[in-house]
This record gives sequence, C-alpha cells and structure tokens, in this order.
Amino acid sequence: MGKATGFMEIKREQAIERDPTDRIKDWKEYSAPFSDEMMQRQGARCMDCATPFCHIGMEIEGATSGCPIHNLIPEWNDLVYKGKWKEALARLMKTNNFPEFTGRVCPAPCEGSCTVAIADPAVAIKNIERAIIDKGFEMGWITPKIPQTRTKKTVAIIGSGPAGLAAADQLNQAGHHVTVYERSDRAGGLLMYGIPNMKLDKDVVTRRIKLLEKEGVTFILNTEVGSDISAEEIRAAFDSVILCTGSQKARDLPIPGREYQGVHLAMDYLTQATKSLLTNNPNSSLTAKDKDVIVIGGGDTGADCVATALRQGAKSVNQFAINPQLPIKRADDNQWPAYPKVFSLEYAHKEAKEKYGKDIREHAIQTKAFITDGKDGLQALYTVKMAKTRDQNGQFVYQEVPNSEDVWPAQLVIIAIGFEGPEQPLLEAFGVKQEGKRIAAQYGDFKTNVEGVFAAGDARRGQSLIVWAINEGREVACAVDHYLMGKTTLPTVQAV
Ligand SMILES: Cc1cc2nc3c(=O)[nH]c(=O)nc-3n(C[C@H](O)[C@H](O)[C@H](O)COP(=O)(O)OP(=O)(O)OC[C@H]3O[C@@H](n4cnc5c(N)ncnc54)[C@H](O)[C@@H]3O)c2cc1C
Ligand code: SF4
Repeated sequence: MGKATGFMEIKREQAIERDPTDRIKDWKEYSAPFSDEMMQRQGARCMDCATPFCHIGMEIEGATSGCPIHNLIPEWNDLVYKGKWKEALARLMKTNNFPEFTGRVCPAPCEGSCTVAIADPAVAIKNIERAIIDKGFEMGWITPKIPQTRTKKTVAIIGSGPAGLAAADQLNQAGHHVTVYERSDRAGGLLMYGIPNMKLDKDVVTRRIKLLEKEGVTFILNTEVGSDISAEEIRAAFDSVILCTGSQKARDLPIPGREYQGVHLAMDYLTQATKSLLTNNPNSSLTAKDKDVIVIGGGDTGADCVATALRQGAKSVNQFAINPQLPIKRADDNQWPAYPKVFSLEYAHKEAKEKYGKDIREHAIQTKAFITDGKDGLQALYTVKMAKTRDQNGQFVYQEVPNSEDVWPAQLVIIAIGFEGPEQPLLEAFGVKQEGKRIAAQYGDFKTNVEGVFAAGDARRGQSLIVWAINEGREVACAVDHYLMGKTTLPTVQAV
C-alpha cells in the first residue's frame, strides 16, 4: 500500500487551477500541471482497502459509485507513491483506454466512494490518474501498438465518441480491420464537439485519434451513415456493425417565443464555439459577446455554456436550475458510498463568481416565456419560482410559488436541459428497435434485433459519462469479437 500512516498524516491537496480572472481570457485548460512530489504525497494517502470501494463501479441511488471500468486504483496509487510511474502506467492502461480524457473530465465517482472520504476528503484519485497518463506521453512511453497478426474480419463502427473509440481500440488490438464512420469533420464525438477546450484540450483528443490511426484504425469523416452512405452498403461491406451514435437529440423548451432569434440549443452553441476556436475564426455569429446571457439548465452542459459565454465576453451570465440548491453536506438519504449529491462550485461558477462577484446560479426557477424586442429578436425572459414538495404519495412535485414572477433581460438564451436519446434516421435505416429513448440491446451481449448489428455507449445506455462510454466500448468489443471468432480473449469486466 501507499504510506501505512499516510491517510492520517497527509491532507488532500486540491487540483491546482489557473487563476479564474486570467483563465477566462483564453481557451486553454483551466487546470494547471501538478508536481510529481505532490502526486506522490497524494498516492501515500491511499489505505489499499481490502475491499476498495473506489473501483466498485455500481449504480447506487441512481448515480454511479466507484469506477465503472474498475481501474486498479489502489495498485497505481501505491506505485505512484513509490515513484514507479512506468509501472503505474502499465496498470492504468489495463483497464482504461483513454485516461487522458477521464483524468481531466470524469466527475470521479471513485472519489465519492473512497473509504478515506468517510471521515476526510477522498484520495485525489482523478489527479493521480491524469498525472500518470500525462507523464506517459511526456516521457514517450506511449507508442503505437501495432497488432502482430490480423484476422480477415471487418467491423464498421458508426460514431467516434469515447464508446466508438474504445470499441475500435479493442477490436483493432484483437486483429480485426476496423473502420470508424463519423459525420463531423473531426473525430472524438462529444470529446471534440461538446466538452469545451478549457476542460479538455482538443490537441489531447487529436493526439489519441492519431495514435489509433497509426495502430491501424481507419477513420472516415464527414460521412453520415444513413444519408451519405446507406445502412445496406455498410452491412454488405462489413462482417459486423456497432452503433455508437450517442444520445444527442436535444430536449427543447416549447414555450411561447421559442422561435425568436437569440434562443439556441446548447450543442449548437458549444459546437460553434469549438469550431471557431479550431478554425481560428473568432467572428462566429453565435457569440455571447456584449450580451446578457441566460443558460437554462442546471447541469454540467449548462456550466460549460456559462464558461464559454464568459470567454466570449458576455455582459452578464445567469444559469437557471429547476432543482433547489444542493446541501453543503451529504443528506441522510445520500450516505457513503453513494455519489455525494452536495453543493459545489464548478470551474465555470468559480470563474463567474470572480467576474460578477456572486454565484450566478438561480435555483428553483422555471422559464415560462421568451419576450421579444418587437422585431423577432429576444429581449427578456419571464420566469416564476418553484417549490419542491412531496405529494400525498410521497412523490416529489414542483409547484409555482405565488407572486414570484420575474423578468430577466437577455439577448442570448442557451437551452441546456438534457437529451432525448439517439437520432431517429439512422435507427430507421438499420431497422433497429428502441426501448424507450435508447437502442434496444442488453448490456453484456449488446446485440440489437438486426443480425450482426450491435449498439453501445449513450445510444444504448442513455446520456451518461465518458467512463461509461469507455466501459461499453470495451465490453461491446468482447461481444463482437466473440460473434466473429466464436471466442474472445479480450478483457472484460462484470459491471453491475
Ligand atoms: C456539453 C457536454 C459536456 C459533457 N461533459 C462531460 C464531462 O465533463 N465528463 C463526462 O464524463 N461526461 C461528459 N458528458 C457526457 C459524455 O460526453 C457522453 O456520455 C459521451 O461522450 C458518450 O459517448 P458516446 O461515444 O456514446 O457518444 P458521443 O460522444 O455522443 O459520440 C457519438 C458520435 O456519433 C456521431 N454520429 C451520430 N450519428 C451518426 C451517423 N448517422 N453517422 C456518422 N456519425 C454519427 C456523432 O457525430 C458523434 O460524434 C458531457 C456531455 C455534453 C453534451
Ligand atoms: S477506497 Fe480510497 S483508500 Fe481505499 S483503496 Fe480506494 S483510493 Fe485507496
């Protein structure tokens, strides 16, 4: 284990972040590199629990607890403490294809269920993970792994998000010929267009795509399957197909005035912002510059919109959430090892607080209508406060608070209230059945109703996390390898 008495002697050190006032002047990552010594100190805090809850990867109370890819956390904590970075990297890569993504943007359910967190702040697992993989790239330890032998089997993967990339990596290493189709001009899915650059630098995503290409994966970009190439052509050309198309059908807000100019969906806004950055064209028409901006939706996507608007030079930014503010400490019905549902200031909220001198989040508020400037443009929002109570059956219900109406000036509104599942045309093209808002396929075999067609990631699971997409990508690869070869030697986990 790390240092036997480390958890008693050493305090958790928070990830170092760049100064919020400075960092909103650019689009570089907001987190700053940490020193080896700091990470070794943090590794020393691990107790090497006999039952390491940090890597259980279970859903408890509707949220993920512990690492869904069952990272060998206590092992690499100990190796980092002892300065054995290369060995730590080998351990990390056994379970995680892309720690450079999760080490930056995973919400770290491992830390929520770390045993140290019962009495003290958790072991800094996520930062240690990032430090290991960043060192691996820095030291040149990560080089293309070209498969020694090739089968004659071919696999088409539709969608290049983390699920598609993880499946491609695994199946390529198993020797199959893998082709990834992507409708965007760049590969990466939401890693590329969705999560903003200050959270995950696009060079980090591109570096991994290039590595996969060198290892033998073929990427075909700017190609929408179902329209630029038909489902029949894909099925005829490949032995197997995996649908990893995500869950990007946006939930809209059909209230009066939705059609006014200045009301946009979060994904359109975030995609445009990243495209402007990557093409070095700051003059996008969809910008927050000098505008009063309101982001509707209290989740992480909304926070990313807030941070983007700040960097574009918004006059003011507010974020509306329907839910009441979370408690400072775990509530009685949210105990360890469940994911802690507690108040926190995300990177975007820290930045906004620095700039405007207050927390810009408004809780328990609902938008009732958009108000026009008289020329089809947007001028303001009309809102009402909501109270969350329980009905006679004990179910949570929201009720409008009398006399709580308000009007908020806004020239730009971003709707970030979630997603409603995979987009229809592709599913219809393949004749794939749905179950609610997801592609119907069981976790474990990942088979759809169509012979040889599998599904994984958000498209199968519903909107989730990168780490779950990696889990599903790895697991669907096992299922497809077995389908093609009658057996598989790819590693698998028994996720619950
Ligand atoms: C703004 C935002 C921020 C997020 N931040 C985080 C975070 O910080 N941490 C975290 O863990 N999770 C985060 N998530 C969630 C996470 O990004 C997703 O759970 C994850 O990316 C899902 O991976 P996926 O591979 O299933 O699908 P996606 O990443 O959605 O990729 C699907 C890909 O399929 C392509 N595609 C779709 N249809 C077709 C077609 N017909 N032909 C060709 N290509 C097609 C799409 O263009 C897309 O590139 C965030 C989500 C959003 C929206
Ligand atoms: S639960 Fe925490 S202390 Fe225990 S092994 Fe995992 S990281 Fe270490």
